[in-house]
Amino acid sequence: MRYAIISDIHSNLEALTAVCNDIEQQDVDEILCLGDIVGYGPDPNECIDMVKSICSVIITGNHDYACLERSEIEYFNVFASQSIFWTVEVLSDSALLFLSQLPFQENVENFKLVHASPDSPSIWNYILTLDQAIYNFSYFDEQMCFIGHTHKPVIYAETAEKDYHLERKKNIEIEEDKRYLINVGSVGQPRDSNTAASYAILDTDRMEYALMRVVYDFHKTQKKMVDSNLPNFLIERLASGR
Ligand code: ZN
Repeated sequence: MRYAIISDIHSNLEALTAVCNDIEQQDVDEILCLGDIVGYGPDPNECIDMVKSICSVIITGNHDYACLERSEIEYFNVFASQSIFWTVEVLSDSALLFLSQLPFQENVENFKLVHASPDSPSIWNYILTLDQAIYNFSYFDEQMCFIGHTHKPVIYAETAEKDYHLERKKNIEIEEDKRYLINVGSVGQPRDSNTAASYAILDTDRMEYALMRVVYDFHKTQKKMVDSNLPNFLIERLASGR
């Protein structure tokens, strides 16, 4: 099977549309979504509709969950919480119902999907260091676990001898005696100093993984965010990829 894996769309319809167009050229069997469909950006309903129509598996992210559980917002910074309040105002009833039905984790073939970290899928811990990754390898039994949340693509690997390292390449062969914890980056708000939308292709027949980047017109998204009075900080970061 050949999968596209998308994460952290954040109501950015231009980035999501560009990624969908790219995926159409990739001959995939299924598209999987790791959550944070909404939050930050200007088109939450449209992004939910598109994700719903193209993805076979969808899990929830902390921004999706915060639209339903107001207590979650206290963990957000001021810009993120402003955007959640705005998002809740504009979301349709059917969109809110859809978000309320999303699971925290799913399994597909020999891999796991979770938004933030496998140790506690509903707590939203960040995996930003090799040490944090090593700790999390003991919380999944599958060969691979795919995550989003930090908006920074990265591949952590565990060898049969329980040695751990970062894979420096963007495209790797999945080796039979290794396990992997892989962050696919963000479609709608990349933070690795690259403004292009990020997603991944996983081919479980060839055992290959590839990180994909797609340039999109973020100026259009920024203009919509200005028109919707969303925070400047969130508008500007799309142009710096931070
Ligand atoms: Zn996110």
